[in-house]
Amino acid sequence: MKLSSAVRTRAIIQKHGFRFKKSLGQNFLIDDGTLQQITGAAELSPRDLVVEIGPGIGTLTERLAEVSGQIIVVEIDQNLLPILQETLGNWENVQVYLGDILKINLDQLVLEKSEGQFGPGGKRYKVVANLPYYITTPIVMKLLEEGYHLESMVIMVQKEVAERMVAPPGGKEYGALSVAVQYYSRSEIVTRVPKGAFLPPPEVESAVVKLIKRNEPAVSVTSETMFFRVVKAAFAQRRKTLLNALVNGGFGIEKQKWGELLGRLNIDGQRRGETLGLEEFAAIANRISAVL
Ligand code: SAM
Repeated sequence: MKLSSAVRTRAIIQKHGFRFKKSLGQNFLIDDGTLQQITGAAELSPRDLVVEIGPGIGTLTERLAEVSGQIIVVEIDQNLLPILQETLGNWENVQVYLGDILKINLDQLVLEKSEGQFGPGGKRYKVVANLPYYITTPIVMKLLEEGYHLESMVIMVQKEVAERMVAPPGGKEYGALSVAVQYYSRSEIVTRVPKGAFLPPPEVESAVVKLIKRNEPAVSVTSETMFFRVVKAAFAQRRKTLLNALVNGGFGIEKQKWGELLGRLNIDGQRRGETLGLEEFAAIANRISAVL
């Protein structure tokens, strides 16, 4: 029987006396259709190395092992290790690593476990995960910002977070996360997932998103730090005009100077930050990098 059945999942956790930890975002997948959509979206083949963050009892891992070459799973909860030993022990292409995804250097881990075939200097690897929702944004930002040797990510996240990741300028979902995700990757929602697909059901709806990492960022900036500072400032006070948000952004540039600067870039300072596209944020950041 596949692990995705609710009966089997309950049986295995009872056998091991396992208790779900809400604090670790433990909601295990029990829906076959959702698992198929995740693996389908990841477009896996025996040539792939996949990193799965948070395998739980190994439900998704089992599916990944069927279609990929090598799978490295990173799990923080050591109480899951005996369960994973039972459920995945027969899969020779799966390696379990006990650790906190936020604390490890993933490129380094992949390089070691693949004996140099994947990671820096080798082939790009894929991430597939039903993420722990309490740290979705830090995980995604770490994977994108660290410049890891990644090809793509197919990840289950809270539905609202998925919508923010793919949001175009102008709407209330568009924010600093949208800009960051779109700067580093092409993103799309694969499917929405109801609460009933998990055991125990989470309090929120979910969605699977696919992020394909760009070879080069979406826009060219002279300083990424400055680009993200401008983005942060523009969204920090969403009800304010762009001009006022930038004046309060701690750049040490006076209002009049900001007005002139935006004018030269043909950007109306009376607009809200949330209406700016990536190109416009880049233009502002590049301009102030030049003058500061
Ligand atoms: N992949 C399994 C599934 O789909 O049934 C479980 C997904 S569950 C939503 C999230 C998993 O991430 C849990 O196994 C949890 O213990 C693990 N986890 C939580 N925080 C983590 C961290 N910082 N590093 C690695 N794994 C973590």
